Amino acid sequence: MSYIQFLGAAGTVTGSKHLIDISTKQQTTAEESDSSDFQLLVDCGLFQGQKEWRLKNWTELPVPARGIQAVILTHAHLDHCGWIPRLCREGFKGTIYATPATVDLCGIILPDSGYLQEEDAAFHNKQKSSKHTPALPLYTMEEAKQCLSQFRAVPFGESVQLADGVSFRFVRSAHILGAAMAEITLAATAERRTLLFTGDIGRVRDSAIAPGKVVHSGPTEGESPDVLVMESTYGNRHHPHEDVMPELAALIGAAVQRGGSVVVPAFAVERTQKFLFLLKELMEKNQIPRIPVYADSPMGIHAVQIFLKHGEEFSAETKELIARYGSPLTWPGFHFAATTEESKSINESRFPSIIVSSNGMCMGGRIQHHLIQRLPDPRNLILFIGYQAVGTRGRQIKEGAHEVKIFGEIVPVRSQVAVLEQFSDHADVDELLEWLHTFKKIPLSTHIVHGEPDSAEALRQAITSQLHWTVDTARYMQKDEIQ
Ligand SMILES: [Zn+2]
Repeated sequence: MSYIQFLGAAGTVTGSKHLIDISTKQQTTAEESDSSDFQLLVDCGLFQGQKEWRLKNWTELPVPARGIQAVILTHAHLDHCGWIPRLCREGFKGTIYATPATVDLCGIILPDSGYLQEEDAAFHNKQKSSKHTPALPLYTMEEAKQCLSQFRAVPFGESVQLADGVSFRFVRSAHILGAAMAEITLAATAERRTLLFTGDIGRVRDSAIAPGKVVHSGPTEGESPDVLVMESTYGNRHHPHEDVMPELAALIGAAVQRGGSVVVPAFAVERTQKFLFLLKELMEKNQIPRIPVYADSPMGIHAVQIFLKHGEEFSAETKELIARYGSPLTWPGFHFAATTEESKSINESRFPSIIVSSNGMCMGGRIQHHLIQRLPDPRNLILFIGYQAVGTRGRQIKEGAHEVKIFGEIVPVRSQVAVLEQFSDHADVDELLEWLHTFKKIPLSTHIVHGEPDSAEALRQAITSQLHWTVDTARYMQKDEIQ
C-alpha cells in the first residue's frame, strides 16, 4: 500500500517532514515498504524548541536516506528546510524541488545554519557541556553549501513529473517570499489521488490587518484534494485587527525617551527587510525619532538583495514602500553588520538605537549577544514580531520569565517586553476556516500538523463542527494509508 508517515511537525510546530511512500505493488503491507517503492519527503525541517524534540534531529529516519528519491520543499524557514543538509549527509542523492525564491533563500539560510551548528558544537566543547566528546555539529557550513547543488527551481504552477504516475506542482500559500503548497498527484494508486500539503498558510484576507507582510495575502483558493495535510500554528488564535503602526511608534518612542534601545528578534531574510521599511516610513513621517538602526546579520546585505530581486511576489503595500524608499542599503542611519567586529561595536553603543537581529526565536545567532547586553536594563525594549515556539528562549521572555540562560549565563530580564501579533505570517483560525470554505469538495481525509497540541486540537474541532469533515491530528511517526 501507499502511505504518508509524519516524521515531524506532529505534536509540535517544528521539524516538518512528511514521508510519502508510493507502492508500485498492490500486495505490499505498511510494515514492509518495498525497495521498488517511490519515496519522497515533503519538507525536511529542523526540530527547534523543547529538548525532547530537538533530540530527534539526531535520530535516523525510518527509511534509509539514500532510498528517498526527492524532496519537495514548501518554503525556506528552518523548521521546514533546516534538516536537508543532514539528509544529504546521510546519503540522500535525489533532487530538492523548491520555488525560485525559496532556492535563493536556502542559498544563504542553510550555510548560515551550518555555521551556527558548528558554533554550537564548539561552544559545548569549550564548556564541556555535552554528553558527547567531542560534540559534533548536526552538519557543517561546508556540507550545507554542498547540498545546494541538489536544488532545482520550479516556478509556481509548473507541473513536474517525478516518476511514472507521480507528479506535483506548487501553488501559492501566501506565507513568506517563495512559500508554496505542494499539490501532488498520484496516478499509480488504485484510484487517481491528489494530496495537498499546505506548508505554512499565510494571511487569507488582505494586508490592512496584516502589516509587515511582504507577499500577497490570500493562499490559492478552490482546491480539491483527496488528502489534505494542513498546518495549525494559530488553530486556537484570533489575530488582532487594529492598525499596528501607532502602537509600534508609541513603544519605540517611549523606549527612546527613557534613553533605552529597542531589540527586535526577527527572521533574517524578508521579515527583517520589511520591518526596516516600516521603520523608515515611521521616521519619514516623524512618528519616531531618527535613531540609528542596525540590521545585525552576517547575511544582511545579501538578504536585502534577495528580497529586492523577487518583486513579482510582493503585495501592493510592499511595492509602494520599495518604490518610495529604494534599497535600505543606501539609507542614512541604517547599518548592516556583516562582520563579528561590526556586530560587537553595536553592543558597545550606549545611545538609543534599534537592533534587528536573528534568529527570530532567540535560540541562536547574534540576537543572543544583544539580549545579554540589553535584557538587564529596564530602559530597553525587547519587541517580538514573530512566532515563538514552546521551549524557545523567545517564548520564555515573551511569557514573562524573570531570567533566562544564554551561553550558560543567567541573564535577568528587566527590560520592557512587548509583543505585536499583527505581524503574523500565519492565518488565524477564522482565516483558515475561510480558506477551507473555498474547497470544491470535501477531502477523504484531513490531517492536522504543525501546531502545539492545544492549537491542533482546536482546529480539528473547529473543522469538524463547522464543516463536518473527517479530521485527525497527526501523531509523530504515525502512518496513514493513502486509499
Ligand atoms: Zn514558515
